[in-house]
Amino acid sequence: MNTIPILMYHNLGHPPQGAKLRNLYVRAGAFARQMRLLRLLGFKGLSMSAAMPYLRGETAGRVAVITFDDGYLDTLETALPVVRTHGFSATCYVVSRRTGQYNDWDAVALNVRKPLMSAAQVREWQAAGMEVGAHSRTHPHLPTCTDAELQAEVASSKTDLEDLIETPVTQFCYRYG
Ligand SMILES: [Zn+2]
Repeated sequence: MNTIPILMYHNLGHPPQGAKLRNLYVRAGAFARQMRLLRLLGFKGLSMSAAMPYLRGETAGRVAVITFDDGYLDTLETALPVVRTHGFSATCYVVSRRTGQYNDWDAVALNVRKPLMSAAQVREWQAAGMEVGAHSRTHPHLPTCTDAELQAEVASSKTDLEDLIETPVTQFCYRYG
């Protein structure tokens, strides 16, 4: 039986002064070491789509899935160069109606406004060979959404992103894991 690790990152860098839930941050140096270690251990880091044949047991191999939640600017600026250095790919789950804005869904709770990738930056991530996955339109609390809200948040976040990157979006990440 082959176990496939799924690595889930949020922010890369040093947590800003006063930020809560500081374990959402992984320092840039630590991230670089983690990716290097994966490669040294013989793992190939893959996006969720690229890893699907392995997850379904159709293909064997030592792979790890690399994911980033929410679409923060530091995913593009800090993670991307490292992921590429090792010849890995990764999935970033983007909140489709918040591109170029900030984490308004938890900025108060976390006491930090974190910049999100702009539309152009999401395209840049995809053009670099990385995957864009959907993560709702506005990051609402899905269990309390009406059916119509769910349709907009879940289904339309996919079409929003497909319009943006002109590529099918096949992955969705439920918020908060
Ligand atoms: Zn999220």
